[in-house]
Amino acid sequence: IAVDRYAVFGHPIGHSKSPRIHAAFAEQTGQAMYYEAIEAPVDDFAGAWRAFVERGGRGANVTVPFKQAAFALADTLSARARLAGAVNTLQVGADGRVHGDTTDGIGLVRDLVAHAAPLEGARVLLLGAGGASRGVVEPLLEAGVAALTIANRTVTKAEQLAELFADKGAVDGCGFEAVTGEFDLVINATSASLAGDLPPLPERLFREGGMAYDMMYAAQPTVFLRWSAERGARTVDGLGMLIEQAAESFWLWRGVRPETATIRESLRSEL
Ligand code: NDP
Repeated sequence: IAVDRYAVFGHPIGHSKSPRIHAAFAEQTGQAMYYEAIEAPVDDFAGAWRAFVERGGRGANVTVPFKQAAFALADTLSARARLAGAVNTLQVGADGRVHGDTTDGIGLVRDLVAHAAPLEGARVLLLGAGGASRGVVEPLLEAGVAALTIANRTVTKAEQLAELFADKGAVDGCGFEAVTGEFDLVINATSASLAGDLPPLPERLFREGGMAYDMMYAAQPTVFLRWSAERGARTVDGLGMLIEQAAESFWLWRGVRPETATIRESLRSEL
């Protein structure tokens, strides 16, 4: 019998942990499926996706730099993908039509909840206004955040993003220098950590019991998490977000919800 095929598309994709995660989910839930990593050409995501579907592909995760291309390619979109302006999960329907969804935002919120992060009624600062930020704004507001400030190096991008969600809650946008007050939760969704950089932030950033979350993860804490720990914040990195978004995609495809703690521990020990 043919095994259902899934994949993660990216460029580069060699470092991706998604095949490991989905293989673990499939084994744990007894699902017969095969999941591979595909490095699509930067200028032809659509062609690589079509070839994959012809080989029996049923669905895929999509990562940098193809989330907008996946959004454009989908025949139908979930409401949350439309709001995020990006798709990280594709699914081929029985009629051959391609459905696009995004699970990054729910993945972040699940991981925050798992870490007992302050959300309900919380004052939250979101650093960065790129694709990752845009995808998490609505899920954070839905989780009951009272006030959300988006701060970005390019100030206009933060302002525009805040404007986009203005009818959904108390959201404002500004530059790093203009950040004022103290926060229950500060989420780093910039790619500054990749370069070992720290956005210029005010010294007094965290409320008592505040938490710092970096979407990036590595063997060692990022410079943002080290800086935050020195200022008394509880710190969490983005490994759990990666695993939770994968679990949500798996559930969309297979209708089964995998348990995530075991794979989180094995990936953590291998970082
Ligand atoms: P984008 O390229 O879309 O956006 C990058 C953002 O980072 C922009 O806001 C940019 O500001 C800012 N930035 C880049 N360099 C610096 C710097 N040196 N100092 C200050 N700000 C900087 O990237 P994404 O939004 O897609 O991804 C952001 C991060 O989130 C990445 O590290 C990615 O790995 C991580 N991520 C993790 C996930 C997980 O599952 N754990 C899921 C998705 C993303 P400007 O607008 O001024 O250029």
